[in-house]
Amino acid sequence: MKYDPENPTDFIDAEKIWNHIEAASNPAPGRVREVLAKALEMKGLNLEEAAVLLACEDAGLDEELFTTAKKVKESIYGNRMVLFAPLYITNECKNCCTYCGFNATNKDLTRRTLTMDEIKDEVTVLEDLGHKRLLMVYGEHPRFGAEWMKETVEAVYATQSEKSGEIRRVNINCAPLDVEGFRTLASAGIGTYQCFQETYHRETYEKVHVKGKKTDFLWRLHAMHRAQEGGIDDVGMGALFGLFDHRFELLALLAHAQQLEEDTGVGPHTLSFPRIEPALGSEMSNNPPDIITDHRFKKIVAITRLAVPYTGLIMSTRENAELRRELMELGVSQMSAGSRTYPGAYSDPEFDRPDVQQFCLGDNRTLDEVILEMAENGFTPSWCTACYRKGRTGDHFMGLAKKGFIQEYCIPNALLTLREYLNDYASPETKKAGEALLAKNEEMMAGRKRGKEFSELLKRVTAGERDLYI
Ligand code: SAM
Ligand code: SF4
Repeated sequence: MKYDPENPTDFIDAEKIWNHIEAASNPAPGRVREVLAKALEMKGLNLEEAAVLLACEDAGLDEELFTTAKKVKESIYGNRMVLFAPLYITNECKNCCTYCGFNATNKDLTRRTLTMDEIKDEVTVLEDLGHKRLLMVYGEHPRFGAEWMKETVEAVYATQSEKSGEIRRVNINCAPLDVEGFRTLASAGIGTYQCFQETYHRETYEKVHVKGKKTDFLWRLHAMHRAQEGGIDDVGMGALFGLFDHRFELLALLAHAQQLEEDTGVGPHTLSFPRIEPALGSEMSNNPPDIITDHRFKKIVAITRLAVPYTGLIMSTRENAELRRELMELGVSQMSAGSRTYPGAYSDPEFDRPDVQQFCLGDNRTLDEVILEMAENGFTPSWCTACYRKGRTGDHFMGLAKKGFIQEYCIPNALLTLREYLNDYASPETKKAGEALLAKNEEMMAGRKRGKEFSELLKRVTAGERDLYI
């Protein structure tokens, strides 16, 4: 579906979504279990079925939902978890989003845009910690166009730390561009283009986006279609939970994903679930209109896991460590770790200053601490970037994922990157826990289809070679 500026289409059918919500209220336990049984076939759920799970208020059935989501997560993704760090490039912004600390009316925020040299300094710090995947984040300002963003991405890829660290995949979260702009970004070799609709409810959208280019709901709604037209295969969507009724937002997000797949043949590579956090200069962020309790949030993640079993689900450090642990089991497949949310933060000795960051973090642990806990709980951290570099993106990636190849490629590749981390960056405690995890997984790989190939690559990484993958 092309974006026609004369006649842009709103493909979110609000009436249909409300009808699903109404029809699903007070579902019979038998109906809920029917939907859960279908979910176990791992072919996804339609909107009506997702609405049934959202409407269920029975604590016992919610537990069955969580158990089902854990089974689906485990059988498709195993215990691996992809890790990344956000890298804030600019907090200058011309928009007025009432929930965001970067909004143009916030006079208490110290504004900063990194120079190319400052970007390199930040990347060096991140590389020396062991990061291989970044999400670059930008405010929206007319001074910064696609060409400039391309330069910032190139600056990241060109930075190699002395410890031979390198960033192998850069994803981008920035305001929507036109097709040419996306073509420019694609030519910089970005991985995923990510942009959240924030709210799919038109009236709320208009209320919370007061000024600037972001007031245009339909321009944003068609961003993923334009990104794919501009040559970006992997796109990431999301809604900012807390702005409006979470049932409406989740069903609309799923409808958006379906529409993209119907129109372009490829659905979103990832979905994200930012939940509003308190932000400087934003009163509403302290008192969001829809209260998303932890239980509700867990349900949102679990239902999404069942509705789109092969789509990556991303969790940020907005959430606290304990909840993140639970969400990993319920369906999250990628998360940020050791994050700082303002430009220059990683090279700032006095980080965690409220006058510069976008919102408050719920999880302040370092990357090494996160990995230690993951290893102790049997989760394999992954910095794998193989698919994107081997061209297994877009519909090609989805084709493979749906055939169950995730286990065949992702697990061995995750282990190869874990080997690198343990050799090059881990603290003694993390190394010990990581070695035990690796040894256990090596045994498991021995009987698998690509076991021999993996074992040879692992030997080469142990001997000092880097960046090897299947
Ligand atoms: N400026 C670009 C945009 O708005 O699309 C990209 C950067 S913006 C900082 C990235 C995302 O941060 C937004 O899409 C929004 O969902 C999220 N965000 C903004 N304020 C937040 C808050 N108070 N708590 C949690 N997430 C927030
Ligand atoms: Fe600017 Fe994005 Fe924050 Fe809105 S959400 S104020 S566009 S940085």
